Amino acid sequence: MKIYFYNTLTKQKQEFKSLNEKEVRIYTCGPTVYYFAHIGNLRAYLFMDTLRRVLKYNGYTLKHVMNITDVGHLVSDADEGEDKMLKAARRENKDPYEIADFYMKAFLNDIDKLNIDRPEIIARATEHIDIMEEYVKKIIENGYTYQTEDTIYFDTSKLKNYGILSGKKIEDQKAGARVDFDTRKKNISDFALWIKAPENHIMKWDTFFGKCYPGWHLECSAMGYKYLGEEFDIHTGGVDHIPIHHENEIAQAQGFCGKIPARFWMHVNFLTVDGGKMSKSLNNLYTIEELKERGFEPLVYRLFNFTSTYRNKINFTWEAMESAKTALNRLREGYLKHCEGTAEVDEKEIKALEEKFHEAINDDLNMPVAMSVVWDIIRNPIKSKAYKNLLLKFDEVLGLDLKNYKKEETEIPKEDIELVEKRNIARKNKNWEESDRIRDILMSKGYTVKDGKEGTLIEK
Ligand code: AMP
Ligand code: ZN
Repeated sequence: MKIYFYNTLTKQKQEFKSLNEKEVRIYTCGPTVYYFAHIGNLRAYLFMDTLRRVLKYNGYTLKHVMNITDVGHLVSDADEGEDKMLKAARRENKDPYEIADFYMKAFLNDIDKLNIDRPEIIARATEHIDIMEEYVKKIIENGYTYQTEDTIYFDTSKLKNYGILSGKKIEDQKAGARVDFDTRKKNISDFALWIKAPENHIMKWDTFFGKCYPGWHLECSAMGYKYLGEEFDIHTGGVDHIPIHHENEIAQAQGFCGKIPARFWMHVNFLTVDGGKMSKSLNNLYTIEELKERGFEPLVYRLFNFTSTYRNKINFTWEAMESAKTALNRLREGYLKHCEGTAEVDEKEIKALEEKFHEAINDDLNMPVAMSVVWDIIRNPIKSKAYKNLLLKFDEVLGLDLKNYKKEETEIPKEDIELVEKRNIARKNKNWEESDRIRDILMSKGYTVKDGKEGTLIEK
């Protein structure tokens, strides 16, 4: 079946074909590990995961790289402001390496909890400084840079098509340039590739230009090239990456080898909270742990994300989480009923359902439509193992871990009920010794034992 993805580069939905027949090569811009990931960040990785699962469902194998930005870059994308890692290190009174280790682990933990498949290659920027240096030297050799006393800049005016991804032009940017435009740059869209580290900068490396650290955009170009080559299939990130980060990755790759690195550029839209932006000052930056504290397991958040397509914004509210929680319970209950079902179902019907689901996911990962097929099966009054098997197949894409779902054992076994009855008789006969003996047995089995007017009540 054909696959269609919306490509930010061509601004249209296009048929997807991989460069190698069986293997799809993907690069995903990963997190900057200076704090816990919030649920907005995690939406980006849920999208990445759905993309992976859909490609696998279509029979592809994957070579997928995700970077971990553990070198500090500046708070704004445009080489301004404070270094995020340094800021965090100061906040927590640790060195930036400790900060990076701690929050990288926390991030990997979060994605595991959401049942997000880890990419085949997780590449830390600090472990790839050598390839970045090699990459930058080649860009210099090819004549795309200029240098000031402490920085090597990429000269975006050397490219005919700078701005190809977002459709912005250098001339337009000049017209709208702000007064605080860094005067050391020739063009407002130029950006730092290689920067001399100030004396007190902790993360720095000995390089051809002295003790330096790389510009943020460079790590993705260099690591993408190292693992996936000059040209690969898909590059993903958030919509916020389009105008600067990905534009600059494309510029760097063109300076390096004259090619746009990926054929497809796919971008996930933002999660809003109560219709607005998430921010610390509004106190609405939630983490997966905070959702758990409020009684929502991570898979509820996963299911909630399927109520929208990745290209649309999605609005987080606690009511929406309640609905997703109820929906997940219904889905699991419905699945269990099909597990016990004995009805025969026409193969043609199963095939039609499978096709409808497959068409939806291949239509630019249309999860709301795919979920409507799932709900049709759950609601079907005819219960059958054929439906159960189909749900398990769909779950390869949904990632709701249905196959491991078992109803919690809430029923009290017969022998324990008999013990309660014996204890009631003992108490009636004022046989306190026997009554205490049975109470101890029940407690050792993990019950709480309460004596009420109606007799003994036990609860696990
Ligand atoms: P960062 O660690 O800041 O580089 O962000 C990691 C990822 O989260 C990037 O792909 C961003 O595009 C994405 N992101 C940040 N905020 C949101 C949000 N509110 N909704 C969806 N994705 C987001
Ligand atoms: Zn990147």
